Amino acid sequence: MSARILVVDDIEANIRLLEARLASEYYEVLTAGDGPTALAMAAAEKPDIILLDVMMPGMDGFSVCRRLKDDAETRHIPVVLVTALDGRADRVAGLESGADEFLTKPIDDVMLFARVRSLTRLKAVIDELREREASGRRMGVIAGAHARLGGAGGRILVVDDNARQAQRMLLELSIEHRPVVESDPDKALLTARGAVDLVIVNTAARSFDGLRLAAQLRSDEATRNLPVLAVVDFDDRPKVVKALEIGVNDILAKPIDPEELAARTRTQIRRKRYTDYLRDNLDHSLELAVTDQLTGLHNRRYMQTRLEALIKRAAAGGEPVATLVIDIDHFKKINDSFGHQVGDEVLREFAVRLASNVRAIDLPVRYGGEEFVVVMPDTRLKDAHRIAERVRLHVAGSPFRVLGGEELLSVTISIGVAASTGEADTPQALLRRADEALYEAKATGRNRVIAKAA
Ligand code: GH3
Ligand code: MG
Ligand code: MG
Repeated sequence: MSARILVVDDIEANIRLLEARLASEYYEVLTAGDGPTALAMAAAEKPDIILLDVMMPGMDGFSVCRRLKDDAETRHIPVVLVTALDGRADRVAGLESGADEFLTKPIDDVMLFARVRSLTRLKAVIDELREREASGRRMGVIAGAHARLGGAGGRILVVDDNARQAQRMLLELSIEHRPVVESDPDKALLTARGAVDLVIVNTAARSFDGLRLAAQLRSDEATRNLPVLAVVDFDDRPKVVKALEIGVNDILAKPIDPEELAARTRTQIRRKRYTDYLRDNLDHSLELAVTDQLTGLHNRRYMQTRLEALIKRAAAGGEPVATLVIDIDHFKKINDSFGHQVGDEVLREFAVRLASNVRAIDLPVRYGGEEFVVVMPDTRLKDAHRIAERVRLHVAGSPFRVLGGEELLSVTISIGVAASTGEADTPQALLRRADEALYEAKATGRNRVIAKAA
């Protein structure tokens, strides 16, 4: 996943150095030599990440960061502050100003790319949620309520077997939050599935494998969106790198500095509340108005708004967007032989199979009747074809249980696949190509996938 990164530093040589390293990994780099220029570029260019030097004459990095985070237009852009090696005070002040991450000079490549990658992932999720929210607002189903983004009062689970360290963390965290300590990783997993805002894991614990626990938290459906702060031993480099690879949200070096703990905790909780807020809007108000009542999938109206935005982005040089148009084969026969109710059951069961066989980023939609569409952001024709084939097999591979399990029906589908071309493509043209491919799939025997290049 590539990203556009704004590098801000008052020293030209520092900019060139970072630019070369980032460009060598195919990141797109924008640069600014001072705070005011950085603010103007952030507003105009909307980069995905900002690497911000702290020490700059005039407006320093803290002020730039504070202004970025105060502005609703730039608040969501992750900021990485670049500080001096021994800048502990800087780090704390930086987190207070709303920075998302730190890198210390001289910048280590492993740390640089680990941070950039994890923030790029976070940014992609936030962008997706923000776009869905914005389209909901355009359709008038979301009131423009603003989130209260406080970072206090969090429910925090500390997983540590070092009683003294845990006690010190508890003491500090209790000032603003409601922490609990757990030393058994299995019990911790159970607690994390409940109402928790942040998990702090000691990866240097003796009696359990903290990295393993972090990985489990990441892969468990119920805890996937829960931020994880890893306590690490900085001398154990491979472990630090591993923690970042697993996708922990932040790391905290031992011995734990209480102020840094407080500041990092606050950042994570604020960020969690922001994404929760976006998700909640999606889950409740938006879902109701743009959801198909029979299947629970999104409806056609919602899809049109989203597809339009994605095609525009692709046309402006972004990744292509692919679509699948899916039609159930001989569906009329099911209605005719078993009745409309059974037809409805098949549609519902199909929707479940469809939704569980596309990726989280994909948007499955009931387009109308027994026709479905999947919108796939950042997807090439070849990959869309592969996913379509998986869906087709998953439908044809096992019969549908209807009438409370009394009847087993074999159901097949035909799928047409198309991807945007990037230039002057439109939603209509894209769907037409996928439709033509679907027609071909029907005409050549059904139960098949046909992809059509533009
Ligand atoms: P083909 O393989 O060519 O797609 O044949 P088909 O029978 O699936 O296609 P056709 O378009 O002839 O028939 C679709 C049927 O789907 C007709 C319509 O009554 C039925 N249908 C549309 N919406 C619903 C619904 O919500 N519930 C039920 N049970 N049937 C529906
Ligand atoms: Mg049809
Ligand atoms: Mg059909």
